Amino acid sequence: MTNATILHYINGEISPGTSSQTQDVFNPATGQVSGQVALANRADVDAAVAAADAAFPAWADTPPIRRARVMFRFLELLNRHKDDLARAITAEHGKVFTDAQGEVARGIDIVEFACGIPQLLKGDYSEQVSTGIDNWTTRQPLGVVAGVTPFNFPVMVPMWMFPVAIAAGNTFVLKPSPLDPSASLMIADLLRQAGLPDGVFNVVQGDKDAVEALIEHPDVQALSFVGSTPIANLLYEKGAKLGKRIQALGGAKNHMVVMPDADLDKAVDALIGAAYGSAGERCMAISVAVLVGDVADKIMPQLAERARTLNVKNGEDLDAEMGPIVTAAAHQRITGYIDKGVAEGAKLVVDGREFDSSNTGEGCEEGFWMGGSLFDQVTPDMTIYREEIFGPVLACVRVPDIATAIRLINDHEFGNGVSCFTESGSVAREFGRRIQVGMVGINVPIPVPMAWHGFGGWKRSMFGDTHAYGEEGVKFYTRQKSIMQRWSDSIDAGAEFVMPTAK
Ligand code: NAD
Repeated sequence: MTNATILHYINGEISPGTSSQTQDVFNPATGQVSGQVALANRADVDAAVAAADAAFPAWADTPPIRRARVMFRFLELLNRHKDDLARAITAEHGKVFTDAQGEVARGIDIVEFACGIPQLLKGDYSEQVSTGIDNWTTRQPLGVVAGVTPFNFPVMVPMWMFPVAIAAGNTFVLKPSPLDPSASLMIADLLRQAGLPDGVFNVVQGDKDAVEALIEHPDVQALSFVGSTPIANLLYEKGAKLGKRIQALGGAKNHMVVMPDADLDKAVDALIGAAYGSAGERCMAISVAVLVGDVADKIMPQLAERARTLNVKNGEDLDAEMGPIVTAAAHQRITGYIDKGVAEGAKLVVDGREFDSSNTGEGCEEGFWMGGSLFDQVTPDMTIYREEIFGPVLACVRVPDIATAIRLINDHEFGNGVSCFTESGSVAREFGRRIQVGMVGINVPIPVPMAWHGFGGWKRSMFGDTHAYGEEGVKFYTRQKSIMQRWSDSIDAGAEFVMPTAK
């Protein structure tokens, strides 16, 4: 990568904007600055929204099947360039290349879903609701909509939003994370090549100021946010005050329950992959293992061995299992949580702070490295249990039975994902019914719903009521209109003063 400045994309063109502020972008594996990203000011956001607003009438009037054809071409281009996108993710986020490929693949799923937009926008029709009168409902796009996305999925999370929003006839302004902004411009270029009209998709780089300008902009009708809970909560409240439609997905503390009857080897595999994959920087990562009965005594040695021997190295190496932490600040935050866990009395079985980074790859001495950490004897009052660490730290809690496990999880403030490993159908059924969490896995550690099912947590993991993508996503990006019609030969003469009823 060169030390170029990563700019905005407004009205079909790369734009330097008017702000002179920039922020360093790092390669977390080397710890070196790889570029700068522009930080948009209010005028830059205004320019992007104006472009999107100007493009909206023609795009909304474009028949859905023609909008879908643009999505089909985009899909083809994505499939051709998916490894370029994955490489860009690894270079700025640090996650291992194979995991980045998986991220891109899950984003592509949503584009495939969006290609079906004509079917998804099909309305309902009732003939003869009264004599000579028909009634139908359609769903129409909102106008300019915005998406604000986190660092941990720079391709997939924007793709939870814009393919559905655009296919439904809206125009879009994306504000990606400033930590890994390059993929957003690659996406913009592929959309341009796919024939998307100028102004339909725009990117403003930046941080807090750009987001504030977006949410306060009178022409932005709706905003989708994915990121940490305090900001999700703030934007949801602010948007509601301004009368905007908001879906704001926040943080998580995902538990995985292991029952004594589970296949314990498979449960260990699942815990290791889901806790340490992507260095734990996934909103669906498992950060708490809830070990029921004698499970802890049985699997702790295996868990410790596997956590200690994770292949942590530059994500460009195809055999890497875990890459670096995204930034030096995040590294410091995670280290602080490990210190706190020890201070509050949890048993640190594997200490990722002691990781020896000499084998992480050439030129990687200054990278933001850390090994996997494993805590046993964690209790619900501890900070490392209550708060989201967002790093490669697995906290194990021991409980006597499934009822205690369910109570523990339901008492947690977050409710994004959860998993239960068991061979018992009745335990699985009860767990699925009673758990207060939005996305549940039975013998599946990271139950990210497929493109047509929609993604969203409960409690303080999501603010708003329509989940991301799937039919919920179509609902979020459209509003219902009901039309009732009759023609003059069925209209009786004379004014009616009573509430109309079916005749
Ligand atoms: P973050 O909240 O720091 O940033 C998210 C976005 O908000 C970025 O685009 C950032 O530029 C912007 N932002 C930062 N500060 C802001 C402010 N004060 N006002 C307005 N906007 C601001 O999150 P992150 O560190 O990029 O991502 C990690 C977090 O995202 C974790 O909490 C993780 O659980 C969460 N996440 C949740 C989901 C989900 O689906 N629920 C998915 C992915 C990530």
